[in-house]
Amino acid sequence: MHEISLIQDLLRQVEQLRQDHHADRVVAITVQVGELAGVDLELFRGAYEMLVAAGSIGTAKLELIAVPLEGLCQGCGHAFRIERFRFVCPMCGGQEVTPLRGESLILQQVTFEMPARFLPPGFLNRALDPGPIHPEPSSEEIPHGPAG
Ligand SMILES: [Zn+2]
Repeated sequence: MHEISLIQDLLRQVEQLRQDHHADRVVAITVQVGELAGVDLELFRGAYEMLVAAGSIGTAKLELIAVPLEGLCQGCGHAFRIERFRFVCPMCGGQEVTPLRGESLILQQVTFEMPARFLPPGFLNRALDPGPIHPEPSSEEIPHGPAG
């Protein structure tokens, strides 16, 4: 079940981010699951729940966002939703269609609980698949809301 190795990569990446951010714990993880990523959402969630309990991340909530497959026609530039993996442009009938989105698994957002204060989630955009994950520094935003 390849969902297991994907979750292992995901958890490794999230744990690395947690350490980088000196966060106490991970509250939530949001992952975009592309239609073409070949991931079964139920299996993915099941693997997550099994592996997260055994790891150092704790009980972080997993949110999955299904991303439909969309393509761009190289002939006429039309962007469209690809139905049933039919890579044919509905405008011109061209078959040179490149995927725009919905191809991969992307770690979109991780929410941490910080030692002294709560920081809003850092927004990340990193493909999880294929290949190993090498976390890069991410930016954090500190809220400028009313003091309280
Ligand atoms: Zn076209």
